[in-house]
Amino acid sequence: MAQVGADTSPLVQPTQSTRFWIDDGSVVFRAGDVLYKVHLSHLKQLSPVVRGIFEIPDSMTGAKQGSEENPIILEFFSAVVFDDFLSWIYRAEWQPIENIQDVEIRERMLVNLLQVARLWDIAEAVAHTKHHLDLMYLRPSRRLELARMYTLYDWIDDAVWKLVTGKLEWLTNEDLARLGVKVYSIIASAKEGLWYETRLSCRVPPEVSLANPAWVSDEHNHRVCAEVFNEIWWTRIAKKMMDPVKPLHFCEVAAEVKSTVFQVQRAGTWKKMEDACKDDMVAMIERENFFSEKALIYAASRAVEKYFSSL
Ligand SMILES: [Zn+2]
Repeated sequence: MAQVGADTSPLVQPTQSTRFWIDDGSVVFRAGDVLYKVHLSHLKQLSPVVRGIFEIPDSMTGAKQGSEENPIILEFFSAVVFDDFLSWIYRAEWQPIENIQDVEIRERMLVNLLQVARLWDIAEAVAHTKHHLDLMYLRPSRRLELARMYTLYDWIDDAVWKLVTGKLEWLTNEDLARLGVKVYSIIASAKEGLWYETRLSCRVPPEVSLANPAWVSDEHNHRVCAEVFNEIWWTRIAKKMMDPVKPLHFCEVAAEVKSTVFQVQRAGTWKKMEDACKDDMVAMIERENFFSEKALIYAASRAVEKYFSSL
């Protein structure tokens, strides 16, 4: 992370930061071509990683670490990243990052802060940035990209859900580049699985058990309930599930069944599904006993997580 006392023989002479060259600072860092003089005690208090860097005695490195002559070189941070981090440390923006109106700048600052916070293990800053990035409604591909880069695995499920239930044609070239071939193929497979299950469920409705339920009285013909349910499922529910513009999602099916009247006319008389039988069916669908969209998308999310962990 930090290369202490490196002989960099820099091609470019570093310049002092115009914002964070603090006269009574106690340590000098170099990020890119910029030197920063800041308060070490403050950084040590926040970061166990920074404390670790300074546990190596100067006598072992042969030079005083973090002096102007021998700055600590931050190999993994650009000057912009370190600037944004210090802006947060010193509350230098004079509006908090999360209130910055320009969303591109706000996102850049939060992500830069997250980058330093992750590498330097500053839990407070990780929580802060996650919370405010969460409120920014980033595109799902961007959330997955950040989840991969900064191990924010609790962001995976929501992003994968949106990608699987959204349309592939909504994805821009930038989205595709962020996702990469592997994640895109996981999303596409889940979409294909979902499409297959949708068609299957339209054709084969959730089964009305013909074993007489406890509430069935002698005069109630439960076969009629099953017959009516299957017919209305095909003509009303399945039709909505197959709608090309605004298809009914699996998670909306229970509510749709609940609000649909299950009755058909036969030779001038109405045949109706008993209310208690319909309620039982709604409860069964709510328990996701016939198909779980959530389970399929959850499996896709875990596949994405497994892939991220393997990188
Ligand atoms: Zn019945």
